[in-house]
Amino acid sequence: MAPQIKYTKIFINNEWVDSKSGKTFDTFNPHDGSVIAKVAEGDKADIDSAVAAAKAAFHRNSEWRQMDASQRGSILNKFADLVERDSEYLALLETHNNGMVASFSKTMLSNMVISSLRYLASLADKIQGNTIPLDGELFSYTLKQPVGVCGLILPWNGPIAMFISKVATALAAGCTVVVKPAEQTPLTALALAALLAEAGVPRGVVNVVPGYGETAGAALTLHPDVAKISFTGSVEVGKLIQQAAGRNNLKRVTLELGGKSPLIIMNDADLNIAVPYAANGVFFHQGQICVAASRVYVQSGVYDKFVEAAVQYARKLKVGDPNDVTTDNGPQIDEEQMKRILGYVEKGKKDGAKLMTGGKRVGSKGYYVEPTVFADVQDEMAIAKDEIFGPVQSILKFETLEEVIDRANDTKYGLSAGIFTTSIENALQYSKHVEAGTVWVNTYLMGGPQVPFGGFKESGIGRENGLGAVDAYLEVKTVIMALSKKV
Ligand code: NAD
Repeated sequence: MAPQIKYTKIFINNEWVDSKSGKTFDTFNPHDGSVIAKVAEGDKADIDSAVAAAKAAFHRNSEWRQMDASQRGSILNKFADLVERDSEYLALLETHNNGMVASFSKTMLSNMVISSLRYLASLADKIQGNTIPLDGELFSYTLKQPVGVCGLILPWNGPIAMFISKVATALAAGCTVVVKPAEQTPLTALALAALLAEAGVPRGVVNVVPGYGETAGAALTLHPDVAKISFTGSVEVGKLIQQAAGRNNLKRVTLELGGKSPLIIMNDADLNIAVPYAANGVFFHQGQICVAASRVYVQSGVYDKFVEAAVQYARKLKVGDPNDVTTDNGPQIDEEQMKRILGYVEKGKKDGAKLMTGGKRVGSKGYYVEPTVFADVQDEMAIAKDEIFGPVQSILKFETLEEVIDRANDTKYGLSAGIFTTSIENALQYSKHVEAGTVWVNTYLMGGPQVPFGGFKESGIGRENGLGAVDAYLEVKTVIMALSKKV
């Protein structure tokens, strides 16, 4: 059943407005390529209005700035209640606009998103400075203060989860925000904006401007009144954002970017666990996850056995309508992504990797790709180097842990990594030396709001989640007072 589309306009000052140009763009259902709705297309002029609203809401005398920190936490908890109340609808909308399988969109909302929101809400009144023992008749303390208006630019692959983690962190810190959702998936961001207003967020604190990256997104990154950009997306755009920040007001920039994560399967691994985790690590959400285990290095003693089991596993995955709760893999986000993935399959074959299963489009409607396994992949091949962002498992062979650590690190990325082994020594050596922001040992894709998340190298700058999540939205101010007598 198609969800009702309630919001398609720009959200500024807790009100719904058309774009100043009057332009709209179509948003699609990747299951069949049909148009779901026409959405207001924000541009520089709309970003200017949204930033002005966010700037006014950040004025020192505004309701938001005068609000107790605990009250900010209460509003976020109220928001969590409303997300919980509407979770069925939001999950359906996510599946409709993004193609995320229903079994995941539902559990994502009921588990991941709500717990993340409650965790971030709990941080609002725990932002504290220090008193510092300075020499002489001086008294010194620090204040941690919200950085100001934040531009939050989101990708299409996890629209609800990304909106929640960025917006809730910024609000817990006391900032005001302008959100630019991905052009492919604007609908859940707009539905969540309505819930924030219902939860009691004052006017102008949260503004959402749907639109394209090169126009609305770029205008946000160049705006002199935006103090910080938090971006999740591709490395290519992350670099543009960093450059834009350097060209104008030196915005604070945090970046969560792509990956080509290495997963190591040692001879001593329990393959009954390693095979399904490795498969889930790369096929989950049709491979459209930044932490996808897209390079699987298998030690020579178990290589043939692992490849055979991986192929069997991939063949059993059910590809089809994401609304069916028994579906494992839904559609890719759009035709462009599907073609890009199929292009990588062709490159893999041409480069001499062995296509073991999959590799083709499924059906002729929607953007479905078969779960694909390549064996005998070599390090220099495109399918071993580039982020494919699709259901393609590349399996490589190795002999020693020493060798594979160097090979795992021979990439511009550094988002995540994994190892399956029954040796504590192997696990500790690999975890220490692999260049990645998250390392999984005998598991994959596990986590929660309590643990920091982010990348080494070109996978990003900064960390989201964890106790330090709010730090990226704060400035530290040092106050030094002269006293007549030491205290
Ligand atoms: P993308 O970089 O194409 O787009 C992301 C966002 O940036 C969109 O909202 C887009 O409109 C905007 N944008 C595009 N050009 C812009 C510009 N010049 N200025 C400002 N904004 C601009 O990425 P995508 O295709 O939406 O997402 C997929 C990528 O995101 C993958 O590389 C994936 O690995 C990465 N990702 C990373 C994480 C993480 O936490 N590290 C999580 C999810 C996705």
